[in-house]
Amino acid sequence: MLTAPFQLAKPVLDRIEEYNHQAFFVGGCVRDFLLKRPIGDIDIATSAQPECVQQIFEKVIPVGIKHGTVIVRHQHQSYEVTTFRIDGLYTDHRHPDSVKFIDKINEDLERRDFTINALAMNKNGRIIDLFNGKQDLQDKIIRTVGDGYERFTEDPLRIIRAVRFSSQLGFTIDNQTVDNMKQVKQGIESLAIERIANEITKLFAGDYLLNGLSYLKATEIYKHLPIMIEYPYIIHLLPRQLKPLYSFGEVIALFHITEPKVRIITWISAWKCSNQTKQEANQLVDALYYYKNNGLDSWLVYQLSSEYYKGFIRLANIFHPTNTIAHQELVDIEQSLPIKSKRDLAIKGNDLLALFPYVKRGPWLQHTLNRLEKEVATNRLKNTEIELKEWVKWNPPEIN
Ligand code: ATP
Ligand code: MG
Repeated sequence: MLTAPFQLAKPVLDRIEEYNHQAFFVGGCVRDFLLKRPIGDIDIATSAQPECVQQIFEKVIPVGIKHGTVIVRHQHQSYEVTTFRIDGLYTDHRHPDSVKFIDKINEDLERRDFTINALAMNKNGRIIDLFNGKQDLQDKIIRTVGDGYERFTEDPLRIIRAVRFSSQLGFTIDNQTVDNMKQVKQGIESLAIERIANEITKLFAGDYLLNGLSYLKATEIYKHLPIMIEYPYIIHLLPRQLKPLYSFGEVIALFHITEPKVRIITWISAWKCSNQTKQEANQLVDALYYYKNNGLDSWLVYQLSSEYYKGFIRLANIFHPTNTIAHQELVDIEQSLPIKSKRDLAIKGNDLLALFPYVKRGPWLQHTLNRLEKEVATNRLKNTEIELKEWVKWNPPEIN
C-alpha cells in the first residue's frame, strides 16, 4: 500500500502515463518509504522529455530544463520531474557538462550514487531494484552503484554523501566503498563549497551523527574540507556528548567554541555562508559565552532572537550536559520581558536631547539608550518616561 504522500502524487504518474510515457517515483523517497522513515521530497523520473512534461501539466516551473528537470505543481505540492538521463563528464565538479535523455529507466538508475538510492517504484508500489538496493537496505549498507573508484572520481561529492547517509540512517559503509572513498578523497577540494556545505549540514543533523563522524575521521575526508585543511586537529576536540544540530550556523558555533582561535568570520568566508548563517552563528556564540559566565537570565533571552532558541539549547546541552535547559524556560523568560527591543523604550533619543539642551548629538545618545535598554530588559528599571528620565539624571552620560 502506498502511503499518503505517494497517494497524493499518484495522479502525476497517471497523467504522464495517459500520454504514453513511463513515470516512476525514484531515489530518496523510495528508500525512505521502504525504511518506513518520514519522506522528504518526492522525486519522479519519466521517459517524457521536459518540453513534453511542460505541455502535460498546467503548472510547471522550468528549474533545470537543460538537465531534464522541471517542477510540477499538483494539489499544492511540488514534484521534481526529471527525464531519464545519463550524465556526461563533471569537469566543473558542479553539474555534468552534458546530459543525454534516454527512454528506459535502467541506465538512469545506473547513474545514481548508492544502491539504496537507485530504487524506483511504479504507481502500484512495484519496486525496480537493479542493484540489490533492497538487500542493502535490509543489511544497512551503503554501497556505490558500480565501481566506487570511478563513481567517486566522476563526482567526489558522493564521498561526502556516503558519510551523510551513514549519519542519517546509521548504516555501515561497505568496506570496498570506504577504500574507494579514501583513494579519491583529494577530489573533494575541487568541489563547489556550496555543494559540500549542503551535505555537511545534513550530516550534522543526522540521527546517527556519531556514526557519520567516525567515518569522517577514519577516512580522513575532513582533511580536505575548508578550515579543517589548516586545522585538522579541530575535529578531534569536539565534545563527546555531541548531538545532532539543525543548521550550518549551529555547526559553526560548535566548531568556534571548540576552537576559538578560528574566528566565526573565517568560517563564514571559507564556507561561503549567507549573512543569515553569519548572524545565527554570532548570536549563538554570544549567547553561549554569556550563558557560561552568567547562566540563563532575562538579558540572555532578550538578546537572542527566538528563532535561535532551539539551536542555543542544543548547543548549551552539548557544552554543559549536566545542566539541561528546556525550551519552555526560555519562552517563560521571554514572556516576562518588559520590552522586546530598544524601540519599546518609553523615551527616545529626542527626549534625551531635550534633557541636555546644551549638549550636541553624539555617540553618548546611543550609549545612554543602550544602558537604559539593559536596565529595563533586566527588570532593574521600570519602563516609564518618568523613571527613565529620573535614571538618566542620576546616571548622566559621559560626554567628551
Ligand atoms: P534527501 O532525503 O536528503 O533529499 P535524497 O536521497 O533524496 O535524500 P537528494 O540529494 O535529494 O538525496 O538526491 C535525490 C536522488 O538523486 C538520490 O537519491 C540519488 O539517486 C540521486 N543523486 C543525487 N545526487 C547525486 C550525485 N551526486 N550522484 C549520483 N546520484 C545522485
Ligand atoms: Mg531528495
